[in-house]
Amino acid sequence: MTRLRYTGKATIESLREHNDALVLQSIAQGGRARTDVVRETGLPAATVSTIVSTLVERKLVREAGHAVSRGGKPRTLLELDDDHHRFIGVHIGRERATAQRLTLAGRLEQRASTAVPAEFDPAVIARLIRRVRTENVTAIGLSVPGIVAPDGVVRSAVNFGWNWLPLGAELAQRCGLPVHVVNDANAIALSEVAHSADTGPDLVLLWLGTGIGAGIVLDGRLHEGRGFRSGEIGHVDIGVALRCHCGLVGCLETVAALPIIIGDATPEVIARYASFADDNTTHALGKRVDRAAHGLARAVSMLTGALDVDEFVVGGPVTDDRIGPRLLAAVNAALAARVMSGFTPVRLRFSAFGEDSAVVGAAAHAIRQEFGVALTMVAEPPRTHAV
Ligand SMILES: [Zn+2]
Repeated sequence: MTRLRYTGKATIESLREHNDALVLQSIAQGGRARTDVVRETGLPAATVSTIVSTLVERKLVREAGHAVSRGGKPRTLLELDDDHHRFIGVHIGRERATAQRLTLAGRLEQRASTAVPAEFDPAVIARLIRRVRTENVTAIGLSVPGIVAPDGVVRSAVNFGWNWLPLGAELAQRCGLPVHVVNDANAIALSEVAHSADTGPDLVLLWLGTGIGAGIVLDGRLHEGRGFRSGEIGHVDIGVALRCHCGLVGCLETVAALPIIIGDATPEVIARYASFADDNTTHALGKRVDRAAHGLARAVSMLTGALDVDEFVVGGPVTDDRIGPRLLAAVNAALAARVMSGFTPVRLRFSAFGEDSAVVGAAAHAIRQEFGVALTMVAEPPRTHAV
């Protein structure tokens, strides 16, 4: 089952949109007739009736047969119209870009991926988007690394060498569709919201890869910050005496970025370490994992203390790396060793959608930008990756 829920601000100007989104959210839960929507939203029956007609015209909602109520006349049920609006989620990673074509209810229709050339070329991404077909697509969501402004300009992506790259406008022009750009950690955080049964979850998504970042969701909404730099935790000082590529000393990335953890370990050594062989060959790698785990635990403690959030989810390249499970276990052990009296330890887990999380989150971002509601996929995610 898939639900949609309102995430916009209820200002007077947006009241109409707010009511549309409330009605849409109610219908998306399934098995609702107009009278159920009236009861759930608290809106007048005439208002609900008008909004439903508009949503049907916009091909967001359709009638779905009848249910016989107790002693009363048959009720006409409503459901999401899953046959018209399509969304494309795209994630641009370091080496590969992936695109998925999804329905309004989060059903996967098509997927494709392509290599990302060292010299980045937006034409490659435009071709990838066309491969999953753009017919009936309402909007494209694009997940990218770095600091992203709502106008679709990537202000800065250090590891890609991007500065003020107008990627949203460029791809919108090439594809002839609205393109909504979102930071990759924020995209994965949104995919977790989409998978959460909680209507207003608080969670922090930790992106672990070549860079480190966090996507912060408070009460079901992304907290992006005034300068859109919320969650830029890779360069906070965790008290180590190492110089970072950013020029500062002591940054979290100096010990916990994935390439630093892996160092000179060969695939054979990593495989031995992943299968719990602790011997001379894996000793150095084990020490780097422990050092990273302590740095990450320190950053997580600061975040949980500052935000009062206890759900931490790990996403990004580390979810597909063989050292991922042992790194997560080491972070959890470090967190468990430092818990204030009366508190339960914070535990990290991997993101629910695994490697597809950034793509699903990008599509969820596009749906939210277009309709003011968040995609909620209560169905089983395509892959889980537990520790
Ligand atoms: Zn730094």
